[in-house]
Amino acid sequence: MRKRFLDVADLPIIINTAAINRRFRDKSDGAFQNSHTTFHSEEESIMGRVFLEHIGGTRLFSCANCDTVLTNRAELMSTRFTGSTGRAYLFKRVVNLSFSEVQDRIMLTGRHMVRDVFCKNCDSKLGWIYEFATEESQRYKEGKVILERALITESEGMEEHVVVGDI
Ligand SMILES: [Zn+2]
Repeated sequence: MRKRFLDVADLPIIINTAAINRRFRDKSDGAFQNSHTTFHSEEESIMGRVFLEHIGGTRLFSCANCDTVLTNRAELMSTRFTGSTGRAYLFKRVVNLSFSEVQDRIMLTGRHMVRDVFCKNCDSKLGWIYEFATEESQRYKEGKVILERALITESEGMEEHVVVGDI
């Protein structure tokens, strides 16, 4: 773990307003061209069925409400973040999420454009994703996802069966 994570505590101080969101959109010419978020269309939910992705691996992190698997230990970058419910983790990649509109938030580490993230299966709010960080030192967080510890559960997942030697 690199040292720059140690002093990071991203407690949102000012939550966006619709006006800020609109201004950001105007400035970026109506499109979030550098957006890190992949948007899925309504086609993904056919006949009310939600299609979920499997990330695999061991030490899985799942939605605390419905047990949908979201990510694994290999994607974990930092455990030293703070969310509205307390301790929060930063992950490189998380699957099975849906996203809010971009919001402008002033955090302890500067101004960030974020989207709230929700469980794709049960719509529980889980944390947020960083779209843009204005401070150069914070740009490593762009495209990365915060999941709040209280809203997820950690489990061992499926171990690969390793055969050692001949029987
Ligand atoms: Zn869920």
